Amino acid sequence: MPNFVLCQSCLRVRPYSDALHQTEGSCVCGSDMCGCPDCDAVAEKLMRRDFTFEAWEFKRTIDFTGYTAESGLCLNKVINHS
Ligand SMILES: [Zn+2]
Ligand SMILES: [Zn+2]
Repeated sequence: MPNFVLCQSCLRVRPYSDALHQTEGSCVCGSDMCGCPDCDAVAEKLMRRDFTFEAWEFKRTIDFTGYTAESGLCLNKVINHS
């Protein structure tokens, strides 16, 4: 049983529930939250504010400025980052 679900876009972390894991667009940003073992492990790091990820884990470079597990990333930064 995972502890967390992780938003696939804004990286917001929420306590795990089947509804959040299984429902499409369950994050307030409109993206899907996932509670698979990989996402659960990443979410646990984010909760500790451990941002030492390998780039491949997200397949993109992420600016964690202003990030909190409760409110996620500023999505504008993600979209504008090239
Ligand atoms: Zn989100
Ligand atoms: Zn996942």
